[in-house]
Amino acid sequence: MEKNDFLCPHCRGHLRPNNKIILSARTPDNKVGLILLSPELGEYSVVKHDSFKLTEGDHIDIFCPVCHADLGTYHENKNLAKIIMIDEKGIESDIVFSEIAGQKSTCKIHGDQIEDFGEDASIYTNLWGATPKY
Ligand SMILES: [Zn+2]
Repeated sequence: MEKNDFLCPHCRGHLRPNNKIILSARTPDNKVGLILLSPELGEYSVVKHDSFKLTEGDHIDIFCPVCHADLGTYHENKNLAKIIMIDEKGIESDIVFSEIAGQKSTCKIHGDQIEDFGEDASIYTNLWGATPKY
């Protein structure tokens, strides 16, 4: 498994202490819980407690579990949250992903290089002015 690190854009606390990215989440009806995401971009399995229900299509607010910064405020599109990824070579990229439950959409942004992940990624390509080429 790759060894990318994931950081909060506000406090730069580590969001991946071990093999999962840990985030704090809040549903539209103000239920809160922790969600564990795969560090593999484009892999959308979510680990959470059974009592914490996510409804497809709902906007889930995502927070840093370390400093509680609202990660949805780091991108101009209100449905996108941002975290930072540092790869094995120490190269830092922005990881932007959808806060809509069930929407599989992630972008990795490094300078003007943009990579899309997830089957719904194309929803957001117009944000960047053009469909990424790679
Ligand atoms: Zn933080």
